[in-house]
Amino acid sequence: MKVLKFGGTSVGSIESILEVKKIVEAQQEPVIVVVSALGGITDQLYHVSNLAASGDPTYIDAMQAIVKRHIDVVNGVVPAEKRTQVTTTITDLLEELTNIMKGIFLLQDLTQKITDSIVSYGERASSSIVGQVIDNAVTYDSRKFIKTVPQFTKHIVDFHTTNALIKQQFANEQKVVVCGGFISSDTRTNVVTNLGRGGSDYTAAILAAALKASVLEIWTDVDGFMTADPRIISNTYVIDKLSFIEAMELCNFGAKVIYPPTIYPAYHKNIPIRIKNTFNPSAPGTYISNDRTTDTVKAIKGISSINDTCLITVQGLGMVGVIGVNYRIFKALAKNGISVFLVSQAASENNTSFAVKNSDADLAVKALDEEFAREIELGEMNHAVAERDLATVAIVGENMKRIPGIAGKLFGTLGRNGINVIACAQGASETNISFVTDLKSLRKALNVIHDSFFLSDYQVLNVFLTGTGTVGGSLLDQIRQQQPKLMAKKGLKLNVVGIANAEKALFTREGIDLETYKEEIEAKGKPTSPQLLRDEILGMNIFNSVFVDCTASPEVATIYKDLLSNNVSVVAANKIAASSEYENYAELKSIASKRGIKFLFETNVGAGLPIMNTINNLINSGDRILKMEAVLSGTLNYIFNTLSAENTLSKTIRMAKEAGYSEPDPRIDLSGKDVIRKLIILSREAGYRVEQSDVECNLFIPENYFKGSLEDFWNTIGEMDAQFEQHRQRLETEHKRLRFVATMEEGKCSVGLQEVDQRHPLYDLEGSNNILMITTERYNDYPMIIKGYGAGAGVTAAGVFADIISIANIR
Ligand code: ADP
Ligand code: ASP
Ligand code: MG
Repeated sequence: MKVLKFGGTSVGSIESILEVKKIVEAQQEPVIVVVSALGGITDQLYHVSNLAASGDPTYIDAMQAIVKRHIDVVNGVVPAEKRTQVTTTITDLLEELTNIMKGIFLLQDLTQKITDSIVSYGERASSSIVGQVIDNAVTYDSRKFIKTVPQFTKHIVDFHTTNALIKQQFANEQKVVVCGGFISSDTRTNVVTNLGRGGSDYTAAILAAALKASVLEIWTDVDGFMTADPRIISNTYVIDKLSFIEAMELCNFGAKVIYPPTIYPAYHKNIPIRIKNTFNPSAPGTYISNDRTTDTVKAIKGISSINDTCLITVQGLGMVGVIGVNYRIFKALAKNGISVFLVSQAASENNTSFAVKNSDADLAVKALDEEFAREIELGEMNHAVAERDLATVAIVGENMKRIPGIAGKLFGTLGRNGINVIACAQGASETNISFVTDLKSLRKALNVIHDSFFLSDYQVLNVFLTGTGTVGGSLLDQIRQQQPKLMAKKGLKLNVVGIANAEKALFTREGIDLETYKEEIEAKGKPTSPQLLRDEILGMNIFNSVFVDCTASPEVATIYKDLLSNNVSVVAANKIAASSEYENYAELKSIASKRGIKFLFETNVGAGLPIMNTINNLINSGDRILKMEAVLSGTLNYIFNTLSAENTLSKTIRMAKEAGYSEPDPRIDLSGKDVIRKLIILSREAGYRVEQSDVECNLFIPENYFKGSLEDFWNTIGEMDAQFEQHRQRLETEHKRLRFVATMEEGKCSVGLQEVDQRHPLYDLEGSNNILMITTERYNDYPMIIKGYGAGAGVTAAGVFADIISIANIR
């Protein structure tokens, strides 16, 4: 014999009840079918009774909607010949309920006892309907055999009486018995009670255990027990096997799929549980049994969470070494019927913290302050403190026992993502590590844990990008093209969750379609500013996230600090931050390193060339950088390589701008400002504390050209053409070339124009290329040379892309 339980969604509509009929009628052996109320009805019954009790006359409409929903279902599922009779039964039942509601409205009074009676109508109605839909089924009223006794404010199952009554009731085996879940009655008084919200699962388990069923099937609306709550995490998947212990740990901790007390009766009688999907019956589901062997190498099986958490702390130096303090704490709580689901005490013994539901907090504090009134008065202990609106998360799996370092990995992952752990606990059985955090960090915590324990088939890196000009635009194209490959080959999902241009910004957790992002930003974006970007990004509090700055904006650079301080990595093509005051640069790097995240700016120098990485590798491996000589301006190099009799200075500047090599304002290149910034960044990365003002700058265009507006500059720069042409002709006869060279020697920096001859390594430098010669203690007689494209949207975007990828923890 099997017990099949169908949840609220499974019996919530005409179509779903017809599915249930099919599933049950296809069974070969006798079955007991336990059903919940039609989906959502229990909530509505609580709601309508509260309306009535508060004197709100709209309770009538709400009640009528409940009646109508049931009648519609009857009309849709009950065969014509039985319909009138079933309609009468349901109408009478709900008529009775409507009268009770009327009484509550008139008296404006509602007791727990009456509420318990009211909510029982949901399962009474649903079981009557389903019993008439399934061929050859009989319907039993569960209140007759599921018996409870009061305990504090709850009702607990009186197993002794219940088991005897079940055996009696089910003595004659039927092909199909349908009964309502959740509902019960008091052993002594027969007053209607229930097993608690979600309790239909428990009813089914009690029946299965009492009658030694071969299996307990929980039919619901998902394919099985998933690695985490699918409503919070998108890439969860079904766990095919769980041990009873794992299932207990997972559902006790809030996973909704099974009502927690359900596991014990099945475990006790060794009855396997299968979770199945009514809407996808061929899916294998999750099998829960006493088999504790596991075929997965994953350290944890699943994650579970409760958002209703209040942490209560009892503290006092007077607790240290005193026997019986914890006994008194838990005795006081138990006396008041308060359930504790996490306990944490440090070895110092001067405080004990434990987690309860928010609604139990006031009572718990009162009970503890009464219990310890004398100690509080003597100053040996403090008043109990309640911290509300927290969440509890648990990671679960029998494999944890075998794998060291799980707790380290868990807390490391949380730390890197800026998630604060307020309290934690690990049982000695090592199948569960639980911790308490802020409610607002819950989603992020679940996501990062799911990600870092490889529960996900792939990892996600969430990207916010600002600046959709040449570099940003090209980067988005590259990401779009590369996304499928990264997913297939590296298990990395690059999810672009925010894009901002100069006017508008668009954010979505699900990721923006990079085929249509331009139109989408135009249509749905909101007006943006760096502050808005910061607030949105921090507000979304999304896990594994990186902010990518493809602008040249000083204002955008000011938000890095807040982002890094909140564990959002930063990748900057923008040079402002890394070349700003040394203190600022050093602070940003230090925040990133303390928080275990990254602040990367490889493309600040030499576009996509691996310069910063190389310098870092040299230094990290113990080398010392003594000297650097470099051509770092793709724009200037392009200009000097392009100058000819036809291409005057002013013309080549325009050409550089049009080719996308120059900064938006080319004077930043011509004044050497851009090269100075790059040299500063390089020198800092090489270990020298330098400021832009320390760089000796030898200008090759008189300073007055840089003072007016950009328009003035374009209008007057032609004046320099003749002088440059003369200079060029002389160099041509001397076989020399002009190079704008940046030099750093033991921390002393300078930039300026040099004439180099054919033997000089800087002579052959084509187009807009860059070159960097690094002399170190190891690379001494022959400096290391890095050379190649130093500008251009494509290579710069690729460099930014590489920085982004290096942040992802690729498998
Ligand atoms: P029923 O009404 O069938 O009893 P429940 O609502 O009690 O169903 O439980 C199923 C729901 O539990 C799913 O629809 C899903 O949204 C939610 N859920 C939460 N955590 C998990 C999890 N780890 N695995 C599967 N479902 C989960
Ligand atoms: N109908 C009850 C509830 O909604 C019991 C159940 O669905 O399991 O809580
Ligand atoms: Mg349920």
